[in-house]
Amino acid sequence: MNTPLPDVATRLTDAHRHETLFSARALHIKQSAVRNVFDISMRPGLISLAGGNPFLQTLPMDELGDIARDLIAEHGATALQYGSGQGTDELRRAICTVMAEEAITDAVPENVVVTTGAQSALDACTRVFCDPGDVVLTEDPTYVGALNTFEAYEVDVRPVDSDEHGLLPDALEAAIAAVTAEGKRVKFLYTIPSFANPSGAVLAADRRQRVVDVCRAANVLVVEDNPYGMLAFDGEPARPLRADNPDDVVYLGTFSKIFAPGLRLGWLLAPAHLKRRLYLANECVVLCPPAFNQMLAVEYLHRFDWVGQVRSYREVYRTRAEAMVAALESAMPDGVQWTTPTGGFFVWLTLPGHLDAETLLAPAIEAGVVFVPGSAFTAADGPSASLRLSFSAVEEDAIAEGVRRLAGVIRAAL
Ligand code: PMP
Repeated sequence: MNTPLPDVATRLTDAHRHETLFSARALHIKQSAVRNVFDISMRPGLISLAGGNPFLQTLPMDELGDIARDLIAEHGATALQYGSGQGTDELRRAICTVMAEEAITDAVPENVVVTTGAQSALDACTRVFCDPGDVVLTEDPTYVGALNTFEAYEVDVRPVDSDEHGLLPDALEAAIAAVTAEGKRVKFLYTIPSFANPSGAVLAADRRQRVVDVCRAANVLVVEDNPYGMLAFDGEPARPLRADNPDDVVYLGTFSKIFAPGLRLGWLLAPAHLKRRLYLANECVVLCPPAFNQMLAVEYLHRFDWVGQVRSYREVYRTRAEAMVAALESAMPDGVQWTTPTGGFFVWLTLPGHLDAETLLAPAIEAGVVFVPGSAFTAADGPSASLRLSFSAVEEDAIAEGVRRLAGVIRAAL
């Protein structure tokens, strides 16, 4: 028998009564600005330069389908079972060979923890290192998903001045000194040194070691997030900070940009003495990473020329980035500035002084194009004159048309 629904007034009272049950932490969880815009992006006719979805069309789908079927038919009882909280031995070994392609040649499977994407690795790092009120330093701007995680755990996020070549080491040193003078503790620096989200910036070679040295001197850990490292358009990835600093860096990797984000597989590589707690923190959320997805990833890495596949992605993204820059050059009014990416997914555009990017969002959607305003990517208060444009998931013609529409909106606002 169906129980009748309570009337509206009763349901509202329940919602009110339950409101007081939320933890302070839950009230800090915000919907990602990118997710908001992502929902809007699905509207027909709209060109989305907002979401940073990878290009997956050239994956060997038929062969992956065969592998998936074989895995279930031949190894179903393992593929559909619980497994190790740290991830399978086979995948952790394969991840070490992936990292070797990025110049991290000393990684051992024992120090790798498989996570459900780099996002969950970030969550583990925050839970393991930060009490409410502890300080995390970030580039400015930085990845919105990291800011949301830090906020959810009541971390005090301090943006550090950065330019088109990444973090400024002197500003980093000054930020650590200022926090220490307040009697607070900086737990880690969160950094995306290569083809950063959202700025596309690459930390300059002559700043890289200095950044780690400044942190080491203050006993501040470096959390290096490197999802785009292999997507250098010239095929020469910048050397990860982790490559030369195994004891000072927790390194986050992911299959989301080199294989498929839907598998939700990433990893962290940590010094042996840090790994155990990170692994336990991850385990208490997911028990174990998905066994089937891990097996599929191992087969993909073993059977296919995944390095060649990444090479082909670089070409796709390079062509799209060039199309975006060319469109910006021909369409944007004077005074608008943008970065020229050398890898990754993003162009960072800055409007002439007085314009607030957020106020352009509604007219842009009206005009049929969507972007992410810069205010989503900073812990600093106030409006932002910058915005993020993503070229990764849009074909050249649509990029050109999207940029033309945006230029029209900016021109009207000037
Ligand atoms: N870090 C950065 C800098 C990212 O851009 C993203 C995804 N957009 C993530 C982490 C999360 O990636 P994953 O799919 O591996 O969770």
